[in-house]
Amino acid sequence: MFAGVFFMSRHVDYIIVGGGISGCVLSYTLLKYGANVMMYDLPSENISSSVAAGLWNPIVLKRMKKVWQADTMINELQTVYRDIEKWTKSQFFDPISIRRIFFNAGEQNKWIELCDNPAYKSYIDEEIVPLPEGVKGSFKSGRMKSTGRLKVIPFIQGVHNTLKATDSFIEERFIWDIVKRDNEGVNYQDIRAHGIISCTGAQMALNKKSLEQKGFAPVKGELIRVELDKPLYNECIHQKHFMLSEGNNEVTVGATYAWNGFEKGPTAAKRKELEQHIQEVWEGSFKTKNHFSGIRPATKDRRPLVGRHDLAHTWIFGGMGSRAVLMAPYLAKVLVEHLIYDTDLLEDCLPSRF
Ligand SMILES: Cc1cc2nc3c(=O)[nH]c(=O)nc-3n(C[C@H](O)[C@H](O)[C@H](O)COP(=O)(O)OP(=O)(O)OC[C@H]3O[C@@H](n4cnc5c(N)ncnc54)[C@H](O)[C@@H]3O)c2cc1C
Repeated sequence: MFAGVFFMSRHVDYIIVGGGISGCVLSYTLLKYGANVMMYDLPSENISSSVAAGLWNPIVLKRMKKVWQADTMINELQTVYRDIEKWTKSQFFDPISIRRIFFNAGEQNKWIELCDNPAYKSYIDEEIVPLPEGVKGSFKSGRMKSTGRLKVIPFIQGVHNTLKATDSFIEERFIWDIVKRDNEGVNYQDIRAHGIISCTGAQMALNKKSLEQKGFAPVKGELIRVELDKPLYNECIHQKHFMLSEGNNEVTVGATYAWNGFEKGPTAAKRKELEQHIQEVWEGSFKTKNHFSGIRPATKDRRPLVGRHDLAHTWIFGGMGSRAVLMAPYLAKVLVEHLIYDTDLLEDCLPSRF
């Protein structure tokens, strides 16, 4: 009987729970380094990646400051998503520019100053350009470099389908309570693995049945998809909110921030806020076609969570707030090299800091 049970169990290196942006990038990275995976995911219950605009930008536009580890992250991102396109035989990497519309002369001067700063030079185009057609404003604009947009839905579908083709994807709820841990690894139903990596986003904070992890401070966000009376050039325009061209006169406008109301879904108040924004910045008319909400897996100190969980053979990969597209490729490399070559993790990101 023992032999029968043993024969039936399937061995994988890592079970990945969660197939949003984090789980997809991590699975690809593990496979690239020669480890194999089994992913569990419930696409219909995804509360963040499925609504994300997918933008990446090495600069925090409000403060014109570089994002933590921006240079390393941008480098990694440029190759990883293109490699995943080849692996999944699909297309989702779109290096469009993000255009900052200046509110006052001070902002414009700061932009010109940063163009001479070697740390910012590669991210800021020194040319000050007129506003795009249809956009209202009293000042001019500047374009960011090394920015873009990951089309998140085709990216996730591409990774899921590629994993399904090798029987490495199960569309099922992973039940944390029935995991059995021993000295060498874990058993979950008929799967034996070295470890489990939770990529379950804000559910680690919001869902009592998820793996519990301290330190999360989730942030709700809403977006609307509208049809404009005329097209917007294929780029992302950033004022107080962004307007992201989707083709065929459609744009996505967002995103809002809220620290409560997680259970409610899209709200009339945030829709109004976004529609008012369009009225302020767009010369023509528009019609709202869709309205989405999601919950960002942000943390209290705004650093991600990458490393060991308190439970044996269990790891966390997440907490990337509003920047999973930018952060996931580099952080996946850090975690995978730690798992395989025992290299150091990043102190700032250890889950044990909470
Ligand atoms: C409105 C909005 C706009 C945003 N725009 C951007 C942007 O432009 N750029 C950017 O980088 N980020 C953006 N973000 C943030 C981005 O969405 C998140 O950083 C990212 O999606 C987090 O991905 P994740 O994979 O860690 O978590 P999630 O996307 O939440 O994925 C977790 C997955 O785990 C699955 N899961 C959970 N528990 C289980 C279980 N027990 N069994 C099986 N599966 C399970 C869920 O179903 C889900 O699919 C935005 C967020 C919002 C809300």
